[in-house]
Amino acid sequence: MPRLEAEMLLSYILGWERYELYINRHYVPSDEQNDRFFGLIKLRSTGKPIQYIMGYKEFMGLRFYVDKSVLIPRCDTEVLVEHIIKHSQSRKDRINILEIGTGSGCIAVSIAYYAKNAYITAVDISKDALKIARQNAQSCGVGDRINFIHSNIFEELNRDRYGGYFDVMVSNPPYIPTEDIKILEKQVSEYEPQLALDGGIDGLNFYRMLAKGARPFLKEGGLWAVEVGYNQSSKVREILKNNGSYDGISFLKDLSGIDRVVLALLEK
Ligand code: GLN
Repeated sequence: MPRLEAEMLLSYILGWERYELYINRHYVPSDEQNDRFFGLIKLRSTGKPIQYIMGYKEFMGLRFYVDKSVLIPRCDTEVLVEHIIKHSQSRKDRINILEIGTGSGCIAVSIAYYAKNAYITAVDISKDALKIARQNAQSCGVGDRINFIHSNIFEELNRDRYGGYFDVMVSNPPYIPTEDIKILEKQVSEYEPQLALDGGIDGLNFYRMLAKGARPFLKEGGLWAVEVGYNQSSKVREILKNNGSYDGISFLKDLSGIDRVVLALLEK
């Protein structure tokens, strides 16, 4: 990892692709480039994540602008996004999708980019995050199919307009138990927004709110889809069962073979 990150920072400074470091092995950086490079290495050694230093992260083959007001997109989340894209592509007509807690916008923007029939309403409690998400939607050319709303989960969603309106609700909510945040890697616990990580005492607060809160906004038979943390899938299934409004609960695994996504259908 240190070598990879050093190469990423060097190519960032030179404005090159990383492979170009290898085909230009004899290039001698200027003093100014050298100074900038070692400045960034020093900054990285304080723990600041490389994505915040460079200001972007690749996700689903797209480039997402990030800063400290948003969670850095994780490749684990691609499992959830790919499923929603396939689900959308399997339908010919327009599909209305609600995303709760959009952060950088990586989920909403990727879905809109790959599924041209998807129209997305994406909410976040953070105005700073919404600014970044809007910027990402513009730069990926999907700004016209995503409506961003400033809201704490479902609170500001207009029931008259959006009651029974959505085919899908998707979310990668904060799911780390509060006490566990401080034992995460320093680059996560000290740099990424607490708001994007903290899932309450048992880490499951948002799943309870999403199970209850999505109901009035989903169509009958609508898809409820969330990312979950390690060991949380069966607990989220319990929450859905206790809620009593969902059928067809299923899980999707990530590349390491752990349950990463919980899916359910709102009963008809
Ligand atoms: N939707 C964003 C992501 O998946 C933000 C998630 C969050 O802040 N918990 O990266």
